[in-house]
Amino acid sequence: MKIVKQPRLIQQICLQFRKKNKTIGVVPTMGFLHEGHLTLLKKCRAKCDILILTLFINPTQFGPKEDLSRYPTDIPGDLSKARVCGVDYVFMPKARDMYPADYQTFVEVGEMTQTLCGASRPGHFKGVTTIVAKLFHLTQPDMACFGLKDFQQFAVLKKMVKDLNMPIKMVGVPTVRESDGLAKSSRNSYLNSGERVAALCLSKAIQQLKDEIKKGETDLKKLEETLKINILKEPLAQMDYVTFVDSETLKPLQTYKKGKTLFALAVFIGKTRLIDNVVV
Ligand code: AMP
Repeated sequence: MKIVKQPRLIQQICLQFRKKNKTIGVVPTMGFLHEGHLTLLKKCRAKCDILILTLFINPTQFGPKEDLSRYPTDIPGDLSKARVCGVDYVFMPKARDMYPADYQTFVEVGEMTQTLCGASRPGHFKGVTTIVAKLFHLTQPDMACFGLKDFQQFAVLKKMVKDLNMPIKMVGVPTVRESDGLAKSSRNSYLNSGERVAALCLSKAIQQLKDEIKKGETDLKKLEETLKINILKEPLAQMDYVTFVDSETLKPLQTYKKGKTLFALAVFIGKTRLIDNVVV
């Protein structure tokens, strides 16, 4: 496994592989790898000749009051996990090399980025699409794997790839969870023991929704109210959003659409903002 820090070097390497008709897969991450990230790597490993992991805490996707300065890192741990997953190249650039002082180009997807997390984190998706577009130009992938835990992120990136005619297969991987249901996330490391228990209100809401739908309840307004009440019962939780949207367009849904209804929620547990979702 090789470690590359210079953007120009990873691009040269990848262009060489393309010339030799090797298929390239990329898994973009911000590091502090957990089982969710490793699942993406394994999935990608099975489908391409050259597997690239990117480790980069992207400053442009964090708001001014967000957790950029304290985002967790563990480079030695990440590198040994990457080795086990059969990664060929780890691309871990410095922020100043990705965004030099005179940097001024951004990629922005429209309407789809204005709802859900985009509404509570203005500018977040502009940072995400910009960095992923840059990583795609540098690594020249045939395929890229992303987690469905960040459902809106995956939808927005798929839209960017389609709208900008990028010849990249976008693969969405189901959410990997802890044994008690909590979606794995690097940000779970911020939670103290009380908050860790409180954080279960997200996955419990998802389970409750599945149960209600199984029972035949399809009134989204009613479902939203029931789910909100349970989250509000958790004293350490503060709701950001709990909502139903069309899983393809991300537009608000008034009535249940079988198999295409995305239930998405974002909840602060103490100071930590956690997200989860399910398509029902
Ligand atoms: P991050 O490092 O948090 O930016 O995440 C990098 C990639 O891993 C993104 O595509 C995420 O959606 C994905 N990911 C994060 N957590 C999970 C999870 N629990 N299950 C599956 N994929 C995940």
